Amino acid sequence: MEYFHSVRLDKEKCKGCVNCIKKCPVEAIRVRHGKAEIMEERCIDCGECIRACPNHAKYAERDSLQDLALFSYTVALTAPSLYGQFRDNVSPARILAAVKALGFDDVCEVALGAEMVSQAVRDYLQANHHLRPLVSSACPAVVRLVQVRFPALVDHIIPLESPMQVTASFMRRKTAQETGLPSEKIGIFFLSPCPAKVTAVKNPVGGLPSEVDRVLAVADVYGRLLENLRQEQPCLTRADRLGIGWGASGGEVAAAGIENALIVDGIHNVISVLEEIELGRLGDIDFIEAQACPGGCVGGILNVNNRFVAGVRLRHLVRDLPPREPLAERLAAAGFPSVPVPRIEVQPRPIVRLDRDLKRAMQKLQQVQTLIEHLPGLDCGSCGAPTCRALAEDIAVGKALETDCIFKLRERIMALAQETYNLARAVPPAMDQTKTAKGGNKGENGGPAGGAGTGTQT
Ligand code: SF4
Ligand code: SF4
Repeated sequence: MEYFHSVRLDKEKCKGCVNCIKKCPVEAIRVRHGKAEIMEERCIDCGECIRACPNHAKYAERDSLQDLALFSYTVALTAPSLYGQFRDNVSPARILAAVKALGFDDVCEVALGAEMVSQAVRDYLQANHHLRPLVSSACPAVVRLVQVRFPALVDHIIPLESPMQVTASFMRRKTAQETGLPSEKIGIFFLSPCPAKVTAVKNPVGGLPSEVDRVLAVADVYGRLLENLRQEQPCLTRADRLGIGWGASGGEVAAAGIENALIVDGIHNVISVLEEIELGRLGDIDFIEAQACPGGCVGGILNVNNRFVAGVRLRHLVRDLPPREPLAERLAAAGFPSVPVPRIEVQPRPIVRLDRDLKRAMQKLQQVQTLIEHLPGLDCGSCGAPTCRALAEDIAVGKALETDCIFKLRERIMALAQETYNLARAVPPAMDQTKTAKGGNKGENGGPAGGAGTGTQT
């Protein structure tokens, strides 16, 4: 099966330094022949390797503003974290005007969709008590992590569409209604903080096709946004501060008003929490807000600002903005008395580690165990695999050799050197003057071969 991945490798820039293989949360990278390779079936597009690469060899594939020309009417969607990329004194209305001035016909905050999803999450938790904890579906990197590394936990993902998709659907319907244009003439562009959202649009996690047509990186347009801030005419904002709060860790729980919740950010922290759920330890918690990026979406690698600074700016905004009229009233004013949040279906996507055939898989597992016993257990990464166990699995499936391990290679070289040394000292029988007339060889090091006192001097 083919997967679209936003995270890519620029082979020219890769120096094979192995920094990225240790950071990948799903062990999806190997370094072979001096270059990194991404294993498509494992990658979750979290962007950790982009963060880790000192040579900028990893990058996120995304669309370009030039694609505006492909549509008759274009709408920009802004992530809540975008507001954290500007100074405190820059209002949301000016930021939206700057975005619109990139060439869009309209602009809308995904924070509006976040409000709709907050309400749907609250309702879902109240109506469904049979399974706990439920995990937020908002971060596509986390959803993919569950699919790939914790497939038994997919039922814990709350089956609701993400704010980005909900806002896109709302704006498509609203634009179609207002302009009379057919759907294909309307271009919905999302300004993304992360590669995971690019992938979520091209290859949606929940089975529903995306309503977003193109995904741009905030970093690609940021310079022009700064220039455009001089726009005199501010733009209409639609979202309340609670939706805006979704841009940083804790925002979803605050907006949905969930009391018994656990908030976790950073993909490796998320893994440790998912491991706890797997062990059945967190059943007393209702909801887990989990985000792959440190600090939440303000920490997305396609943003530009320091995540701590961006987080503070977003918190100031949430604190200082006045509350707006209820969501239902704002939607009704836009001609939509209710906007349903679609249900998604998250399927497991487990990695085939050893073999699809159970019997062969068991045999390979046995081989892996034996190999692990003989590998040094240092997890040094010199072999191009992130851990000794990963190398053992690669060997079992025929993708690596034991001598890829530098220590095993050294052992082999030493054994070969010893053998070569022994061979070099070997003498053909016809030339062997160490043999006595009565027979009996001298030992390898000149000592008697048959034990002390059995040799005779010639
Ligand atoms: S971090 Fe990975 S992609 Fe970057 S240079 Fe090193 S091996 Fe290559
Ligand atoms: S935390 Fe936000 S920015 Fe980071 S991967 Fe998830 S959705 Fe993207």
